[in-house]
Amino acid sequence: GELMPSTPDIQPHRVEILRNANPATPPPAHTLVFGHTFTDHMLAIPWDAVSGWGTPEIKPYGPLQLEPSSTVLHYAQTIFEGMKAYRAEDGKVSLFRPDMNMKRFNSSARRLALPTFNGEALLDLIKHLIRIDQHWVPKEPGHSLYVRPTLIGTQKAIGVGPPNEALLFVIMSPVGPYYASGFKPVSLYGTTEYVRAAPGGTGAYKLGVNYAPGVLPQKSVAALGYSQNLWLHGPEHELTEVGTMNMFVVFSKDDGTIELVTPPLDGMILPGVTRDSVLTLAREHVSGKKRLQGLPDKLIVSERTVTMKEVKAAVAAGQLVEMFGAGTAAVISPVDRIGYMGEDVLIPTGEDGMGQISRPVWVELIGRQWGTIPSEWSVPV
Ligand code: PMP
Repeated sequence: GELMPSTPDIQPHRVEILRNANPATPPPAHTLVFGHTFTDHMLAIPWDAVSGWGTPEIKPYGPLQLEPSSTVLHYAQTIFEGMKAYRAEDGKVSLFRPDMNMKRFNSSARRLALPTFNGEALLDLIKHLIRIDQHWVPKEPGHSLYVRPTLIGTQKAIGVGPPNEALLFVIMSPVGPYYASGFKPVSLYGTTEYVRAAPGGTGAYKLGVNYAPGVLPQKSVAALGYSQNLWLHGPEHELTEVGTMNMFVVFSKDDGTIELVTPPLDGMILPGVTRDSVLTLAREHVSGKKRLQGLPDKLIVSERTVTMKEVKAAVAAGQLVEMFGAGTAAVISPVDRIGYMGEDVLIPTGEDGMGQISRPVWVELIGRQWGTIPSEWSVPV
Protein backbone atom coordinates (compact mmCIF):
# COMPACT_ATOMS: atom_id res chain seq x y z
CA GLY A 1 0.00 0.00 0.00
CA GLU A 2 0.87 3.63 -0.30
CA LEU A 3 2.58 5.14 2.69
CA MET A 4 1.02 8.27 4.15
CA PRO A 5 3.61 10.97 4.63
CA SER A 6 4.02 11.32 8.35
CA THR A 7 5.60 14.10 10.40
CA PRO A 8 7.37 13.71 13.75
CA ASP A 9 5.34 13.26 16.93
CA ILE A 10 6.21 14.96 20.22
CA GLN A 11 9.74 13.91 21.21
CA PRO A 12 10.38 14.30 24.96
CA HIS A 13 14.11 13.48 24.70
CA ARG A 14 14.65 16.54 22.51
CA VAL A 15 13.45 18.94 25.21
CA GLU A 16 15.46 22.12 25.61
CA ILE A 17 15.47 23.71 29.03
CA LEU A 18 15.95 27.39 29.66
CA ARG A 19 15.98 28.09 33.38
CA ASN A 20 14.17 31.12 34.77
CA ALA A 21 16.89 33.53 35.92
CA ASN A 22 14.43 35.33 38.23
CA PRO A 23 12.46 32.59 39.99
CA ALA A 24 9.63 33.77 42.23
CA THR A 25 8.88 32.67 45.78
CA PRO A 26 5.62 30.71 45.91
CA PRO A 27 3.11 32.84 47.86
CA PRO A 28 1.75 31.64 51.23
CA ALA A 29 -0.85 28.94 50.63
CA HIS A 30 -3.71 30.82 52.34
CA THR A 31 -3.38 33.77 49.94
CA LEU A 32 -3.88 31.68 46.77
CA VAL A 33 -6.75 32.66 44.49
CA PHE A 34 -7.64 30.04 41.86
CA GLY A 35 -5.68 30.51 38.65
CA HIS A 36 -3.97 33.80 39.55
CA THR A 37 -0.43 32.67 40.35
CA PHE A 38 1.78 30.76 37.93
CA THR A 39 4.97 28.81 38.48
CA ASP A 40 8.41 29.83 37.17
CA HIS A 41 8.33 27.68 34.04
CA MET A 42 6.08 26.63 31.19
CA LEU A 43 6.26 24.00 28.47
CA ALA A 44 5.84 24.99 24.82
CA ILE A 45 5.81 22.72 21.76
CA PRO A 46 5.34 24.22 18.30
CA TRP A 47 3.75 22.31 15.44
CA ASP A 48 3.50 22.97 11.74
CA ALA A 49 2.00 20.98 8.92
CA VAL A 50 5.32 20.52 7.09
CA SER A 51 7.65 19.51 9.91
CA GLY A 52 5.21 18.19 12.54
CA TRP A 53 5.88 18.61 16.26
CA GLY A 54 9.01 20.64 16.88
CA THR A 55 11.49 20.89 19.72
CA PRO A 56 9.78 20.95 23.12
CA GLU A 57 10.93 23.83 25.30
CA ILE A 58 10.70 24.28 29.05
CA LYS A 59 11.27 27.97 29.59
CA PRO A 60 10.37 30.86 31.90
CA TYR A 61 6.62 31.52 32.20
CA GLY A 62 5.88 34.56 30.07
CA PRO A 63 3.87 36.18 27.27
CA LEU A 64 3.30 34.51 23.90
CA GLN A 65 4.00 36.29 20.67
CA LEU A 66 1.11 35.93 18.25
CA GLU A 67 0.37 37.66 15.00
CA PRO A 68 -3.01 39.44 14.95
CA SER A 69 -3.93 37.15 12.06
CA SER A 70 -3.53 34.01 14.23
CA THR A 71 -6.58 31.86 13.65
CA VAL A 72 -7.06 31.22 17.38
CA LEU A 73 -7.97 34.89 17.81
CA HIS A 74 -10.63 34.77 15.11
CA TYR A 75 -12.15 31.29 15.11
CA ALA A 76 -11.53 30.11 18.67
CA GLN A 77 -9.14 27.33 17.69
CA THR A 78 -8.30 26.60 21.29
CA ILE A 79 -8.69 23.54 23.49
CA PHE A 80 -7.53 22.85 27.02
CA GLU A 81 -7.26 20.39 29.86
CA GLY A 82 -7.39 20.69 33.62
CA MET A 83 -5.60 18.30 35.94
CA LYS A 84 -3.86 18.46 39.31
CA ALA A 85 -0.56 17.39 40.85
CA TYR A 86 -0.88 16.37 44.50
CA ARG A 87 1.80 16.19 47.19
CA ALA A 88 1.58 13.21 49.52
CA GLU A 89 2.63 13.42 53.16
CA ASP A 90 5.99 11.84 52.32
CA GLY A 91 6.60 14.74 49.92
CA LYS A 92 6.15 12.70 46.74
CA VAL A 93 4.21 14.34 43.92
CA SER A 94 1.71 12.51 41.71
CA LEU A 95 -0.91 13.10 39.06
CA PHE A 96 -4.40 11.56 39.12
CA ARG A 97 -5.35 9.47 36.06
CA PRO A 98 -3.46 11.81 33.68
CA ASP A 99 -3.88 9.30 30.84
CA MET A 100 -7.57 10.26 30.78
CA ASN A 101 -6.68 13.94 30.34
CA MET A 102 -4.28 13.09 27.50
CA LYS A 103 -6.98 11.03 25.80
CA ARG A 104 -9.56 13.81 26.14
CA PHE A 105 -7.03 16.44 24.97
CA ASN A 106 -6.45 14.42 21.78
CA SER A 107 -10.16 13.94 21.28
CA SER A 108 -10.69 17.72 21.57
CA ALA A 109 -7.80 18.34 19.12
CA ARG A 110 -9.36 15.97 16.58
CA ARG A 111 -12.73 17.74 16.88
CA LEU A 112 -11.16 21.11 15.99
CA ALA A 113 -8.87 19.72 13.25
CA LEU A 114 -5.88 20.67 15.39
CA PRO A 115 -2.87 18.31 15.35
CA THR A 116 -3.03 15.22 17.57
CA PHE A 117 -0.05 13.74 19.39
CA ASN A 118 1.27 10.87 21.46
CA GLY A 119 -0.34 11.40 24.88
CA GLU A 120 2.39 9.49 26.72
CA ALA A 121 5.06 11.70 25.18
CA LEU A 122 3.23 14.85 26.28
CA LEU A 123 2.72 13.38 29.74
CA ASP A 124 6.47 12.71 30.00
CA LEU A 125 7.13 16.38 29.31
CA ILE A 126 4.45 17.54 31.75
CA LYS A 127 6.07 15.40 34.46
CA HIS A 128 9.42 16.96 33.60
CA LEU A 129 7.92 20.45 33.91
CA ILE A 130 6.36 19.58 37.28
CA ARG A 131 9.69 18.17 38.54
CA ILE A 132 11.44 21.42 37.60
CA ASP A 133 8.81 23.47 39.49
CA GLN A 134 8.11 20.85 42.15
CA HIS A 135 8.56 23.27 45.06
CA TRP A 136 5.43 24.95 43.70
CA VAL A 137 3.29 21.92 44.60
CA PRO A 138 1.82 23.08 47.93
CA LYS A 139 2.10 20.76 50.94
CA GLU A 140 -0.84 22.23 52.86
CA PRO A 141 -3.85 19.88 53.14
CA GLY A 142 -6.28 20.12 50.24
CA HIS A 143 -3.89 22.25 48.17
CA SER A 144 -2.51 21.16 44.81
CA LEU A 145 -0.85 22.34 41.63
CA TYR A 146 -3.35 22.90 38.84
CA VAL A 147 -1.91 21.97 35.43
CA ARG A 148 -3.38 23.61 32.34
CA PRO A 149 -2.37 22.14 28.96
CA THR A 150 -3.62 24.29 26.05
CA LEU A 151 -3.42 23.91 22.27
CA ILE A 152 -4.10 26.79 19.89
CA GLY A 153 -4.19 27.25 16.12
CA THR A 154 -1.57 29.85 15.13
CA GLN A 155 -1.89 29.95 11.36
CA LYS A 156 -0.91 33.44 10.26
CA ALA A 157 -3.68 33.83 7.72
CA ILE A 158 -7.36 34.45 8.34
CA GLY A 159 -8.87 31.59 6.43
CA VAL A 160 -11.19 29.14 8.11
CA GLY A 161 -9.60 25.72 7.80
CA PRO A 162 -7.28 23.36 9.60
CA PRO A 163 -4.42 25.59 10.78
CA ASN A 164 -1.00 24.96 9.25
CA GLU A 165 0.62 26.01 12.51
CA ALA A 166 -0.24 25.34 16.13
CA LEU A 167 1.22 25.80 19.58
CA LEU A 168 0.82 23.48 22.54
CA PHE A 169 1.72 24.97 25.90
CA VAL A 170 1.34 23.98 29.53
CA ILE A 171 1.17 26.40 32.45
CA MET A 172 0.75 25.57 36.14
CA SER A 173 -0.88 27.31 39.08
CA PRO A 174 -0.80 26.43 42.80
CA VAL A 175 -4.37 26.29 44.13
CA GLY A 176 -6.11 25.98 47.47
CA PRO A 177 -9.02 23.71 48.40
CA TYR A 178 -12.30 24.62 46.77
CA TYR A 179 -14.05 24.50 50.11
CA ALA A 180 -11.91 26.11 52.78
CA SER A 181 -14.00 24.75 55.65
CA GLY A 182 -16.62 22.02 55.30
CA PHE A 183 -18.77 21.61 52.23
CA LYS A 184 -20.85 24.52 51.21
CA PRO A 185 -23.77 23.19 49.18
CA VAL A 186 -24.41 25.09 45.98
CA SER A 187 -27.74 26.34 44.66
CA LEU A 188 -28.60 25.83 41.01
CA TYR A 189 -30.84 27.57 38.54
CA GLY A 190 -32.50 25.22 36.09
CA THR A 191 -31.54 26.99 32.89
CA THR A 192 -33.85 26.66 29.91
CA GLU A 193 -33.20 30.00 28.18
CA TYR A 194 -29.61 29.12 27.20
CA VAL A 195 -28.03 25.82 26.13
CA ARG A 196 -24.47 24.66 26.94
CA ALA A 197 -24.53 21.77 24.51
CA ALA A 198 -26.84 20.30 21.90
CA PRO A 199 -27.08 17.00 20.02
CA GLY A 200 -24.38 16.97 17.36
CA GLY A 201 -22.65 19.91 19.05
CA THR A 202 -19.35 20.13 20.88
CA GLY A 203 -20.34 19.62 24.53
CA ALA A 204 -18.36 16.38 24.80
CA TYR A 205 -15.06 18.15 24.09
CA LYS A 206 -13.02 20.59 26.11
CA LEU A 207 -13.02 23.46 23.63
CA GLY A 208 -12.57 27.09 24.65
CA VAL A 209 -15.65 27.85 22.57
CA ASN A 210 -17.83 25.87 25.00
CA TYR A 211 -16.97 28.17 27.88
CA ALA A 212 -17.17 31.80 26.75
CA PRO A 213 -20.95 31.60 26.04
CA GLY A 214 -21.54 30.24 29.57
CA VAL A 215 -20.34 33.42 31.27
CA LEU A 216 -23.46 35.49 30.62
CA PRO A 217 -25.88 32.77 31.85
CA GLN A 218 -23.65 32.37 34.93
CA LYS A 219 -23.82 36.11 35.59
CA SER A 220 -27.58 36.13 35.23
CA VAL A 221 -28.13 33.26 37.69
CA ALA A 222 -25.75 34.91 40.16
CA ALA A 223 -27.92 38.03 39.95
CA LEU A 224 -30.90 35.86 40.93
CA GLY A 225 -29.03 34.50 43.94
CA TYR A 226 -28.06 31.08 42.57
CA SER A 227 -24.50 29.90 42.28
CA GLN A 228 -24.49 27.79 39.10
CA ASN A 229 -26.46 26.99 35.97
CA LEU A 230 -28.10 23.60 35.88
CA TRP A 231 -28.02 23.02 32.13
CA LEU A 232 -31.31 21.47 31.02
CA HIS A 233 -31.86 19.91 27.64
CA GLY A 234 -34.92 19.44 25.45
CA PRO A 235 -38.66 19.67 26.07
CA GLU A 236 -38.47 17.23 28.99
CA HIS A 237 -35.81 19.37 30.69
CA GLU A 238 -33.23 16.62 31.03
CA LEU A 239 -30.47 17.41 33.51
CA THR A 240 -27.06 17.47 31.79
CA GLU A 241 -24.33 19.29 33.73
CA VAL A 242 -23.90 21.76 36.57
CA GLY A 243 -21.84 24.87 35.74
CA THR A 244 -18.59 23.25 34.64
CA MET A 245 -19.11 19.97 36.48
CA ASN A 246 -20.72 16.66 35.70
CA MET A 247 -23.66 15.78 37.91
CA PHE A 248 -25.11 12.91 39.89
CA VAL A 249 -28.56 12.37 41.41
CA VAL A 250 -29.29 9.74 44.05
CA PHE A 251 -32.78 8.22 44.33
CA SER A 252 -34.21 5.77 46.84
CA LYS A 253 -36.76 3.21 45.71
CA ASP A 254 -39.75 1.71 47.50
CA ASP A 255 -37.81 -1.48 48.30
CA GLY A 256 -34.96 0.51 49.85
CA THR A 257 -32.65 0.22 46.86
CA ILE A 258 -30.49 3.27 46.24
CA GLU A 259 -29.83 4.37 42.66
CA LEU A 260 -26.87 6.59 41.74
CA VAL A 261 -27.58 8.22 38.38
CA THR A 262 -25.57 10.36 36.00
CA PRO A 263 -26.52 11.38 32.45
CA PRO A 264 -25.03 9.20 29.69
CA LEU A 265 -22.14 10.27 27.43
CA ASP A 266 -24.46 11.06 24.54
CA GLY A 267 -22.35 13.82 22.99
CA MET A 268 -23.69 16.59 25.23
CA ILE A 269 -21.76 15.63 28.35
CA LEU A 270 -18.05 16.25 28.94
CA PRO A 271 -16.48 12.88 29.81
CA GLY A 272 -15.16 14.00 33.20
CA VAL A 273 -12.32 12.20 34.94
CA THR A 274 -14.11 12.70 38.26
CA ARG A 275 -17.39 11.41 36.76
CA ASP A 276 -15.66 8.26 35.55
CA SER A 277 -13.93 7.84 38.91
CA VAL A 278 -17.19 8.15 40.88
CA LEU A 279 -18.87 5.62 38.57
CA THR A 280 -15.92 3.22 38.77
CA LEU A 281 -15.71 3.39 42.59
CA ALA A 282 -19.47 2.83 42.94
CA ARG A 283 -19.38 -0.09 40.50
CA GLU A 284 -16.37 -1.66 42.24
CA HIS A 285 -18.36 -1.46 45.48
CA VAL A 286 -21.32 -3.19 43.83
CA SER A 287 -19.19 -5.91 42.23
CA GLY A 288 -17.35 -6.49 45.50
CA LYS A 289 -13.96 -5.64 43.96
CA LYS A 290 -13.56 -2.97 46.61
CA ARG A 291 -16.29 -2.33 49.17
CA LEU A 292 -16.52 1.26 50.36
CA GLN A 293 -17.42 1.71 53.98
CA GLY A 294 -20.75 3.53 54.34
CA LEU A 295 -22.10 2.78 50.86
CA PRO A 296 -25.33 0.75 50.90
CA ASP A 297 -25.31 -2.89 49.80
CA LYS A 298 -28.32 -2.44 47.59
CA LEU A 299 -26.88 0.10 45.16
CA ILE A 300 -27.66 0.49 41.48
CA VAL A 301 -25.32 2.59 39.33
CA SER A 302 -26.95 4.03 36.21
CA GLU A 303 -25.90 6.15 33.27
CA ARG A 304 -29.31 7.28 32.10
CA THR A 305 -31.40 10.34 31.39
CA VAL A 306 -32.96 12.18 34.35
CA THR A 307 -35.67 14.80 33.84
CA MET A 308 -36.74 17.66 36.10
CA LYS A 309 -40.13 15.96 36.34
CA GLU A 310 -38.49 12.89 37.88
CA VAL A 311 -36.43 15.03 40.26
CA LYS A 312 -39.49 16.98 41.42
CA ALA A 313 -41.55 13.83 41.89
CA ALA A 314 -38.76 12.20 43.91
CA VAL A 315 -38.41 15.28 46.12
CA ALA A 316 -42.19 15.29 46.72
CA ALA A 317 -42.13 11.57 47.59
CA GLY A 318 -39.13 11.95 49.90
CA GLN A 319 -37.13 9.70 47.57
CA LEU A 320 -34.46 12.11 46.47
CA VAL A 321 -31.44 11.25 48.61
CA GLU A 322 -28.93 13.81 47.35
CA MET A 323 -27.55 15.52 44.28
CA PHE A 324 -23.97 16.61 43.59
CA GLY A 325 -21.61 18.01 40.99
CA ALA A 326 -18.30 16.27 40.25
CA GLY A 327 -15.14 17.76 38.75
CA THR A 328 -11.41 18.23 39.24
CA ALA A 329 -11.72 21.67 40.87
CA ALA A 330 -14.18 20.94 43.70
CA VAL A 331 -14.10 17.09 43.54
CA ILE A 332 -17.66 16.75 44.92
CA SER A 333 -20.06 19.67 45.22
CA PRO A 334 -23.36 19.03 47.04
CA VAL A 335 -26.51 20.77 45.76
CA ASP A 336 -29.19 22.05 48.15
CA ARG A 337 -31.68 23.86 45.91
CA ILE A 338 -32.78 24.18 42.28
CA GLY A 339 -34.62 27.26 41.10
CA TYR A 340 -36.96 25.87 38.47
CA MET A 341 -39.89 27.46 36.63
CA GLY A 342 -40.51 30.04 39.33
CA GLU A 343 -40.13 27.83 42.40
CA ASP A 344 -37.33 26.41 44.52
CA VAL A 345 -36.97 22.64 44.55
CA LEU A 346 -35.23 21.78 47.83
CA ILE A 347 -32.65 19.00 47.72
CA PRO A 348 -31.65 17.19 50.93
CA THR A 349 -28.02 17.48 52.06
CA GLY A 350 -26.11 15.72 54.85
CA GLU A 351 -25.13 17.40 58.13
CA ASP A 352 -22.03 19.17 56.80
CA GLY A 353 -23.20 19.08 53.20
CA MET A 354 -21.98 15.64 52.16
CA GLY A 355 -24.50 12.86 51.77
CA GLN A 356 -24.95 9.14 52.16
CA ILE A 357 -23.38 8.28 48.80
CA SER A 358 -21.15 11.28 48.14
CA ARG A 359 -19.26 11.07 51.42
CA PRO A 360 -17.83 7.51 51.12
CA VAL A 361 -17.04 8.09 47.45
CA TRP A 362 -15.34 11.42 48.23
CA VAL A 363 -13.25 9.85 51.01
CA GLU A 364 -11.98 7.14 48.65
CA LEU A 365 -11.44 9.62 45.82
CA ILE A 366 -9.35 12.13 47.76
CA GLY A 367 -7.47 9.24 49.38
CA ARG A 368 -6.47 8.02 45.94
CA GLN A 369 -5.65 11.55 44.76
CA TRP A 370 -3.35 12.39 47.67
CA GLY A 371 -1.92 8.88 47.84
CA THR A 372 -3.11 7.95 51.33
CA ILE A 373 -5.01 5.16 49.58
CA PRO A 374 -2.62 3.50 47.10
CA SER A 375 -4.06 2.88 43.64
CA GLU A 376 -3.11 2.65 39.98
CA TRP A 377 -4.85 5.98 39.46
CA SER A 378 -2.04 7.80 41.22
CA VAL A 379 0.84 8.30 38.79
CA PRO A 380 4.21 9.37 40.23
CA VAL A 381 5.79 12.47 38.73
N1 PMP B 1 -18.01 19.32 32.67
C1 PMP B 1 -17.42 20.44 32.21
C2 PMP B 1 -18.17 21.28 31.23
C3 PMP B 1 -16.12 20.79 32.64
O1 PMP B 1 -15.54 21.90 32.18
C4 PMP B 1 -15.48 19.96 33.57
C5 PMP B 1 -14.09 20.31 34.06
N2 PMP B 1 -13.11 19.76 33.21
C6 PMP B 1 -16.12 18.79 34.01
C7 PMP B 1 -17.40 18.52 33.54
C8 PMP B 1 -15.47 17.86 34.98
O2 PMP B 1 -14.43 17.15 34.37
P1 PMP B 1 -13.20 16.60 35.21
O3 PMP B 1 -13.77 15.68 36.24
O4 PMP B 1 -12.35 15.89 34.21
O5 PMP B 1 -12.54 17.78 35.81
